[in-house]
Order: sequence, then structure tokens, then C-alpha cells
Amino acid sequence: MMYKLQDHIALVTGASRGIGRCIALHLAKMGAEVVLAARSKNLLEQTAEQIRQDGGKAEVALLELEDEESINSLIEFTENKFAKLDILVNNAGITHCALLEDTRTEDWDKIMRINARGPFILCRQALRLLKKSPHAKIINISSVVGVKGYPEQSAYTASKHALRGMSISLANELRDTNIRVHVICPGGVDTEIVSQVRPDLKKDELIAPEEVAELVGYLAAHRGKG
Ligand code: NAP
Repeated sequence: MMYKLQDHIALVTGASRGIGRCIALHLAKMGAEVVLAARSKNLLEQTAEQIRQDGGKAEVALLELEDEESINSLIEFTENKFAKLDILVNNAGITHCALLEDTRTEDWDKIMRINARGPFILCRQALRLLKKSPHAKIINISSVVGVKGYPEQSAYTASKHALRGMSISLANELRDTNIRVHVICPGGVDTEIVSQVRPDLKKDELIAPEEVAELVGYLAAHRGKG
């Protein structure tokens, strides 16, 4: 499987920590040059340094997913640097844990902006570059809550349903093009976010972020239809 992504350019949001960091490291090990996007410059630089130490290539780009201009700048940066994009991974996300009656409108709006609106704008703006790749992939990280609905997670659940629904629709819209769209819905993964959402889950029963990264790597390299 190694070097299957030689000459591929990948853009990974939320690459500063958690699942996104593991995805970026894994895609780089498979040969892709990775654009690492998030808000925390220092943490992104650390991910980039790790990739370079492993013999890979990475670029750091700051991203605030709530800000449309910031998303546009990220695409501009990628275009100016590489003139194309092969793999877009919409991984960055936040959670919100509260009863619906305690969820403020601003909490709802923020989580929808980051988890659903941001990936929508990024997909739309990236399409122009993805069309230049012979085998492009969009891989969106939803969640098990994008399929189910647990109590005290109504805003998070709504945002992940939105991301999953948009992904399925876009996959069908692009079926006859060079671009495949995948959405994955992991259960509890051992990162910072899960201790906020599900403190009841046992650490040794959680999915390792590296396992999610391996799945993303498989989908990124897979050439089949669908
Ligand atoms: P995490 O450790 O909290 O990482 C979240 C990432 O998103 C960070 O890199 C963060 O970077 C970035 N981010 C947050 N707000 C942002 C914003 N406004 N603009 C740009 N980037 C932003 O979470 P994780 O567990 O790795 O989760 C990654 C994704 O997997 C999320 O979409 C999450 O919903 C999903 N997921 C997680 C689990 C789980 O159990 N952990 C299960 C299923 C799905 P900065 O803070 O540097 O901006």
C-alpha cells in the first residue's frame, strides 16, 4: 500500500491533532504531499515536522472554518502552490454536549458553521482543483451520530447528519466524473473530543485514530467506482 499516493496532493482539515493529524501522517507515508489546515499554527508545524522526519512532504495553512474568506484563502494557497488537488479530507469538527433545552441558538449556529457549512464551502471551492486530478477523492468525516441520535448531542448530531447527507448527494451528483465522494461514520475514537462527548466510554474499547487514518488511506488510493 505504501507510495500508492505518489504525486498526489492531499488537503486535510483539522490536521493539528487527533484523527486529522493521524490521517495527514498516514497519507504522507503513502506518498502524498499534504496541506495541513487548522487554527493552531504550532501544532500544525509539529505535524509537518513529523511528516518531514518520516521522509514525507507537507505544507501548513491556517484555516478558520467559520470564516468563508479563510476557506477561500486555503483553496487559493493550494492552487498557487500545486495548481491541483487530488484528495480533500473534511475532518475538522467540534462537538457540543447538552440537552436540547439547554442548547443556545449560538451553540447550534457555531457547530453547524464548523461541521456542516465549512465542509460544504470547502467542497464547493475545491471542485475546480479536484477536476484537474485524474482520480480525485473527497472524504468527509461524519460520525456514528451522523446515522444515530444519542441524547444530549442534538446539535452535534444534526451537524453530522447534514455532513453525511450532503456527502451522499454530492457522491451521486459527481458519479459520472473523475471525483469519488466518501463519508465515514466512526464510533468513539480515542482523541480529546471523545472525552467531552462520551466520558462514559472505556479507553480500551475506543477505535484508535490510526485505524480511521488507514481507512481514509484505503479510500484515497482506491480507484473503483462508487
Ligand atoms: P479533535 O482532537 O478535537 O480535533 C479537532 C480538529 O478540528 C483539530 O485539529 C482542530 O484544530 C480542528 N478545528 C476545530 N475547530 C476548527 C475551526 N473552527 N476551524 C478549523 N479547524 C478547526 O477531534 P477528533 O476526535 O480528532 O475529531 C476529528 C473529526 O472526527 C471531527 O469532525 C469529529 O466530529 C469526528 N469524529 C470524532 C470521533 C471521536 O470519537 N473522536 C468519532 C466520530 C467522528 P484547531 O483547534 O487547531 O483549529
